[in-house]
Amino acid sequence: MRTPLARTGRRLLALLAAIGIIGACSRGRPSPAVEPGRLPTTFYAGGPQCAGTPLQVHEYNPDFFILRQAACTNFEKPFLYLVFGRDRVLLLDTGAQRVDVVTPIDTLIRTWLARHRRAADSIHLVVAHSHAHGDHVAGDSQFVRRSATTVVGRDTASVRAFFRIAHWPTDLGAIDLGGRVLDVIAIPGHQAASIAIYDRRTGVLLTGDTFYPGRLYVRDTAAFAESIDRLTEFTRTHTVTQLLGAHIENTATPYRDYPEGTVDQPNEHALALYPRQLFELDSVVRTMRGRMTRTALRDVTIWPVTP
Ligand SMILES: [Zn+2]
Ligand SMILES: [Zn+2]
Repeated sequence: MRTPLARTGRRLLALLAAIGIIGACSRGRPSPAVEPGRLPTTFYAGGPQCAGTPLQVHEYNPDFFILRQAACTNFEKPFLYLVFGRDRVLLLDTGAQRVDVVTPIDTLIRTWLARHRRAADSIHLVVAHSHAHGDHVAGDSQFVRRSATTVVGRDTASVRAFFRIAHWPTDLGAIDLGGRVLDVIAIPGHQAASIAIYDRRTGVLLTGDTFYPGRLYVRDTAAFAESIDRLTEFTRTHTVTQLLGAHIENTATPYRDYPEGTVDQPNEHALALYPRQLFELDSVVRTMRGRMTRTALRDVTIWPVTP
């Protein structure tokens, strides 16, 4: 016999499943295989005057570093990521103009090698990009003459070839850093060569300028919609602990971003986004059926721009 209480319970479960809470929790729950890490409460990048280091370094865990460019060097304040495997270390993005990237990266690599009692230059550095925009590639020239280094080209053909993506953008690519496989998802739309990178060890999904707490500038609306769909499907079928992008432009107040070009953001949104926020974006983009309009969601804003 169906009691009213049981009916209510079933309805509640159905509702939770429909809005993704149950699914997101079970899929997002860190399994024993997922390596833990720690995010700071804030990545505050400082004001217009340079006071501290131009590139803030945060150790998420001993093999995964998050770097943020100081506001005084460039208003974009992009994030860079450094992920260590046994044989290779990946630097994702080289920042916007006017910052020394190679010195702090060399220091981190030297320290990591010393911790593991390894010789200098015994790990190969791969410099790749979330996409080809200037605020993520400006430091490339600092790495061109570095020994034991590969700088991956920024165009779609180079990205596709390097990460072995058979059919762009629908197939997955990958790179094995040595005991650490990163999956590569092609996500054009913000920019033609945009990729997301999934770290199987931590469950972190790096999403560049395609998904971060801020203005999601969309240049190719059809490609973007398909990319968000693909990213959503990937997230539904993998253990994604969090999604980390390349900027923060939203304030900590829901639905509110800082004006474009803001340098000092003392009360900014946290860096991490979670699967439920991606699922929300996906469902809103789907309802737009190709007619994308500027729309603020709680943590991100869809922002179509003419190419
Ligand atoms: Zn961009
Ligand atoms: Zn950017």
